[in-house]
Amino acid sequence: MKNQTFNTAIKDGHYISVDELEPGAGEKCGCFCPECGQPLRSNVTAKSPEELKVPFKNHFTHIDTSTNCDGGVKKTKIHLLTHDILKNAAEIKVPGIPLGQPSSLTYQQVFFDSTLSSTLSDVYRPDLIIENQHGHQFLLAVDLLTETAKKHYRKHKMPVLQLDVSGYLSDAEEDVKVPEFKAVILENIDVKSWIGSRKFLEIANSNGIHPVSQSAGKIWKSVPNMLLIGAGLVLGALGITQWLRKK
Ligand SMILES: [Zn+2]
Repeated sequence: MKNQTFNTAIKDGHYISVDELEPGAGEKCGCFCPECGQPLRSNVTAKSPEELKVPFKNHFTHIDTSTNCDGGVKKTKIHLLTHDILKNAAEIKVPGIPLGQPSSLTYQQVFFDSTLSSTLSDVYRPDLIIENQHGHQFLLAVDLLTETAKKHYRKHKMPVLQLDVSGYLSDAEEDVKVPEFKAVILENIDVKSWIGSRKFLEIANSNGIHPVSQSAGKIWKSVPNMLLIGAGLVLGALGITQWLRKK
């Protein structure tokens, strides 16, 4: 497993293929491992296949050659494949919120966003975001989230649909059967679950068919206002008591 080579990394918060890099960048390519977050060396040749004495493919390796990390090749593949499947569809079946009936979400946009996960220590991949025609977004976690990650996304008030694809990640050798995987992503609700408190999901649900980050955000933002009003009432009551005592 040591010093395994692979061809997709993270650069500036985005997935990048090694073939997009210039030769010579090497350790200064600014690329990081999608799996462990460690810096990578890009190995890119400018020579044509005829000039090369031995067959060579552009690739990444960890700068720290003692690592046992395999670069998360399988997970990267699943992540990118899911993105492509969703990009070419417009509807995904999801468990209903919060009562569990299945429903379908229509959406317009699918993209990777690294801003949410950037402050999370155990996630290096950009998040897969799905957005509907009203600009409401939710995150699709193409894996089982750790407790730290769940807490992190709750803090961001980003609704998260967790997709359990562990069956596809465990078998390192066999290639993913795309039509089967596509059916799982788009049709299967048994492998999907919403992450978040019931109350949050209920608020979200009342704003549309699925959790709505912006509207939910407004409700959360009003909490400090309610605290201020509460504090005002208490102080007012104290004032009246003092005034009555003086009389
Ligand atoms: Zn790594």
